[in-house]
Amino acid sequence: MQVIENFINGEFITSNSGKYIDDFNPATGKQIAKISSSNHKDVNDAVGAAKSALPYWSSLTLDERIEWLDTIADALDARKEEIAKTESMDTGKPISVARNIDATRSVTNFRFFSEFTKQQEMMQFEMKDATNYVHRKPVGVVGLITPWNLPLYLLTWKIAPALVMGNTIIAKPSELTPLTANLFAQVLVDINFPKGVFNIVHGLGPDAGQAILEHPDIGAISFTGGTQTGRIVARTAAPLFKKLSLELGGKNATIILKDADLKKAAKGAARAGFTNSGQVCLCGSRILVDSSIAKEFTKLLLKEVEAMKVGDPTDESTEIGCLISMEHLEKVESYIELSKQEGGRILTGGKRVKDNGRQNVNGAFLEPTIIADLDINSRTATEEIFGPVVTLHTFDNEQQAIQMANNTEYGLAGSVWTTDLVRGKSFAKQIDTGIVWINTWLHRDLRTPFGGVKNSGVGREGGQWSLSFFSEMTNICVKHD
Ligand code: NAD
Repeated sequence: MQVIENFINGEFITSNSGKYIDDFNPATGKQIAKISSSNHKDVNDAVGAAKSALPYWSSLTLDERIEWLDTIADALDARKEEIAKTESMDTGKPISVARNIDATRSVTNFRFFSEFTKQQEMMQFEMKDATNYVHRKPVGVVGLITPWNLPLYLLTWKIAPALVMGNTIIAKPSELTPLTANLFAQVLVDINFPKGVFNIVHGLGPDAGQAILEHPDIGAISFTGGTQTGRIVARTAAPLFKKLSLELGGKNATIILKDADLKKAAKGAARAGFTNSGQVCLCGSRILVDSSIAKEFTKLLLKEVEAMKVGDPTDESTEIGCLISMEHLEKVESYIELSKQEGGRILTGGKRVKDNGRQNVNGAFLEPTIIADLDINSRTATEEIFGPVVTLHTFDNEQQAIQMANNTEYGLAGSVWTTDLVRGKSFAKQIDTGIVWINTWLHRDLRTPFGGVKNSGVGREGGQWSLSFFSEMTNICVKHD
C-alpha cells in the first residue's frame, strides 16, 4: 500500500496534522493508499516554498519555460502506461479509457501549451504619437483544485499554462484520486525540476482546499468541480479579489433532429451518455429526440448501449468500468429510485453489475441506464447525476427542443445531430451552453474556449483564455519623440 505525502519544495513531506485519508480502488473495494490529510499549516508551508521559487521561475525567459514544458511532456510520455494503470486503479475506469483519454491528454496538455505559447506574438497597438505594448506578467502563486473524474488530465490542463506564464503552483487533487498527481511529482523530481515551483497539498476540500482559497498570498484560484463547491469557492475567494476560474457541473442535452443519420446519432448519443460511466461533466445525460423518429432511434440506441461491455477495468475489452465509490453508486441509485417515483420507465439497465469479471461484490459497478417517460422538469431530468444514467425525452418541433435543452440551471455543453449543417448551426446558437457539437461529441481543439454559462461556471479555459487567466496583462504606453 502506498503512502502519499505532500510535495513541498521538491520533497515528499508528512502533513503537520499527522492524519491520513484512506484511498480505495472502487472496482475491488480494497484500500490501495493512504494520503496526507493536510491543514492550513501545510498550505502555508507550500505557499512559502512557492513564494521563494517565484523570483527565479518568473525570471526565466518564455523560451526557457517552454523548454521545461517539453521536458515534462517527454518524461510523462515515457511513463504513459504507468499513468494509465494508476489512473484506472484509482478511478475504476477501463484501462483503455485511462490510456487513450487520461494518460494521452496529460502529455498533450504540455505539448499543446508549449507549441501554442511559441506561436503567440506580443500584442502592440499603434497611436499617432505613441505605441502600446501589452506585456504579460505572472499572477504569482496560484491554487489549482481539481476533481476525481479525469484526475491528471484536468490537473495538467491547469499546470501547463500556469507554469508557462511564470507562476508557481499549489495543487490540491481530489482526495479520492491522489495517485497520478503524486506520480507527476515523482516525474518532476526525476527531471530535476526547480524546487518549490510546483507543490501538492493533499487532503479534504473543507480543510486543505479551503485553506488554499483563504490564503492571502495565493493570487488566483482555478477550480474544477461541482457547482455546490463552486459556490463555496466563489464566496471565499471573491472578497479577497483573487482571480477566479470556475469549471462546474452540467446536465447536457444530446438533441436528435428528424433529419439525423440515426445510426451515427445512436452511436454518438451512447458515447456521450456513458463514457467514463457518465462521469464526465460534458456527458449528454438528457437525450431529446424528434417524436417522428423516436421509435426507430430508441431501438438503435438500446442496441448500442446493451452491447457495451461493463466490467473489470483491467480487461482491455471493457468499455465501461465502475463508479468512483460505493457512496457515489448509492447516490446514483437513489436517482434511479426517484425516477420511478417521478413516473419514469427504465428501458435498460438500472441494476448493479454482479458479474464484473472480478467476482467482487464490493465493486461500484452499475449498468448503463436509460429512463423514458419523465417530465422534462422532473428532478431526474434537471439535476446532475454524474453517473451512467440518461433520460430520454421527445419533442414535436424545434422550438420545443430548444426550450427543453435550456431547461436546467446548467449550461456547459450539448450536441445536435442533423444532416443539415446550416440548420444545425442555427440550432446550436440558441442553446445556452459554452460548447455545442454538431454530429460529434467531445471533439476538442485545445485552442478553442472551454467553459460553461449559467451555473456551469465562470470563465473559459483553453489556448488564449488559459494564458490570459494565468497572467496579468500590463500595458506599457511609449510616447514617440
Ligand atoms: P467536488 O466539487 O466535490 O470536488 C472538487 C474538488 O474541490 C476536490 O479536490 C475537493 O476536495 C475540493 N473541495 C471540496 N470542498 C472544498 C472547499 N470547501 N474548498 C476548496 N476545495 C474544496 O467535485 P467532484 O465530486 O470531485 O467532481 C465532480 C464534479 O466536477 C461534477 O459536478 C462535474 O460536473 C464537475 N466537473 C466539471 C468539469 C468542467 O470542466 N466543467 C470537469 C470535470 C468535472
